[in-house]
Amino acid sequence: MKRTVRGRFAPSPSGRLHLGNICSSLLAWLDVRHLGGELIFRLEDLDPDRSYMDCAQLMADDLRWLGLDWDAGWPEDKRFAQGSRGGLYGAAFSVLEEKGLIYRCWCSRAERLAASAPHPGEEHPGSCACRGLEGLELARRECGKRPPAYKCAVPDEDVTIIDGHLGEYAQNLAKDGGDFIVRRSDGVWAYQLAVSVDDMLMGVTRVVRAADLLESAPRQSWLIRTLGGRAPEYAHAPLLTAPDGRKLSKRDGDLNMAELRRRYTPEELTGRLAYLCGLIDRVEPVAARDLAGSFDWAKVPAGPIDISGVF
Ligand code: GLU
Repeated sequence: MKRTVRGRFAPSPSGRLHLGNICSSLLAWLDVRHLGGELIFRLEDLDPDRSYMDCAQLMADDLRWLGLDWDAGWPEDKRFAQGSRGGLYGAAFSVLEEKGLIYRCWCSRAERLAASAPHPGEEHPGSCACRGLEGLELARRECGKRPPAYKCAVPDEDVTIIDGHLGEYAQNLAKDGGDFIVRRSDGVWAYQLAVSVDDMLMGVTRVVRAADLLESAPRQSWLIRTLGGRAPEYAHAPLLTAPDGRKLSKRDGDLNMAELRRRYTPEELTGRLAYLCGLIDRVEPVAARDLAGSFDWAKVPAGPIDISGVF
């Protein structure tokens, strides 16, 4: 059956959108509008300690200011905020539990960040010793003060995705990604579970986001299929780098939308990004809607893009 083309914006409201987020959002919007599809806005406010509602509102305003619109979602429809979707994540968790894929984990290392999308190097692939705990050792943990997190056990299986921009990407789920946290010990649902459940239930067919999440795509695709859904197509957008080669990020407070909106009009900002992405051949003002018709991933560089000379 042919499915409606549906993409998504899925920002986490942990800070103001920066240039890199805006670049991926522009490409996500162009990818879907070029195909005549729909977009949704999903607020990824899983982590109560790193979600600020004033940032969430500004994110929506910033995208609209740029002319990047959506057809359904937050803030008009609160059901598109992950913070309100715990019941759905719980139902998916039960399905995984019935399949024998959930185990309790008492390691603390990766837990703090599990509600956020991982940055490369933050995860610790490999099997966790808690997976095989039994007998006295298990009883000792159960009696301890520390509540467990919950992990999903992945099979020793190769999964290949065909990235719409980068081509074939293969990963062995167990060796390259490893078991992953689905619920933190404080009850907060983790990113990998929530994003997969939502992409599945919201009928997302195109996931366009920054390339630092490429490594998460095989396990998300596997998880959706394990839950009985159909995995979306993925296309990972190039990262923007500062002149010293460092990736731009919210955490480093790089060029964010407060500053960008002071410096440029929406068309000036879009023109600069479109130039960096190879969509136009000189820096000039352009509206996002005027780029949709001729959008083509083949024009967009595959590797990181240095912003120097343009920003
Ligand atoms: N919420 C994530 C972020 O802002 C993006 C997750 C995704 O696109 O899968 O980094």
